[in-house]
Amino acid sequence: MTRTIALVGHPVAHSISPAFQQAALDALKIDARYEAWDTPAAELQSVMERLRSRDVLGANVTVPHKVAVMRLIDQPDSLVEFVGAVNTIVNRDGRLHATNTDVTGILNALAEVEVDLAGANVVILGAGGAARAVVVAMRRAGAARGTVANRTAGRAEELVPLGGADLDVWTCPLDLESERLRVAVTAARLIVQTTSLGMRHGPDEGATPIPARMMRQGQLAFDLVYTPERTPFLEAAASGGAQTLGGLAMLVHQGAASFRLWTGQEPPLATMFEAARAALDGGR
Ligand code: NAP
Repeated sequence: MTRTIALVGHPVAHSISPAFQQAALDALKIDARYEAWDTPAAELQSVMERLRSRDVLGANVTVPHKVAVMRLIDQPDSLVEFVGAVNTIVNRDGRLHATNTDVTGILNALAEVEVDLAGANVVILGAGGAARAVVVAMRRAGAARGTVANRTAGRAEELVPLGGADLDVWTCPLDLESERLRVAVTAARLIVQTTSLGMRHGPDEGATPIPARMMRQGQLAFDLVYTPERTPFLEAAASGGAQTLGGLAMLVHQGAASFRLWTGQEPPLATMFEAARAALDGGR
């Protein structure tokens, strides 16, 4: 029986996950298809029921359903409870187990550049779903202080409790006139860009939340946006002298962690990266 793994979101046509997940399944000769299921909100419940079928191994969940599916799964793990969002579902005999591999994706992407975050100051630009996973990842990495800068102040405040007792989380406006933002960025070892600014074909294509003059040598700038691979934020960071890391590494590493859960096999990372890059180049 050919098994299915679904990508549940809306829209999903632009996603490169099917390209690199299918390449990984094929490389390991696993008889399964990774399919993008475009799912408007009104169809979410029936799609979740379909995931319980014997031929379905599981699913990835993406925008805008990462929070909404929480009420439709059987078994969230502690990370899902903590982050408040699901990106991976595993079908175990008709029961839907949920986890969030974004945190692992962030940590494994950072491991590629070998940055030591123990006791570090970190700035997180944006306060959406992705930023929540970044705060949890920073806590796990042993960072001391995280400053969340967001356009909408109330949304940043919601992230403060995620730091728990270990990570001291502060907030400030994502406004270039803000002295608190300037001080936090100057002191940061790592700056993580989690807003949708700079995304190709998005409304703010070409924009960066902070300019080159605010960044410097000795800092790592990490953009979660992965299309284009060199985003305006990363271009600015590089001209300011900072080291850069693009969002493709996180995307592939979170996908690899999901793959391990669905198949029980070690994901072929090099194959996944190669297929992801080819899909990005093909989608220009
Ligand atoms: P989200 O929940 O919709 O949050 C979007 C964030 O962007 C909010 O903080 C929002 O601020 C901010 N923003 C949007 N437009 C803005 C503007 N014009 N000026 C200033 N801030 C603006 O989205 P998300 O799920 O966190 O995803 C955010 C980005 O991360 C997306 O580009 C997504 O593709 C990327 N991402 C990448 C990966 C990966 O694996 N590499 C994984 C997840 C997400 P307000 O609160 O003020 O609206």
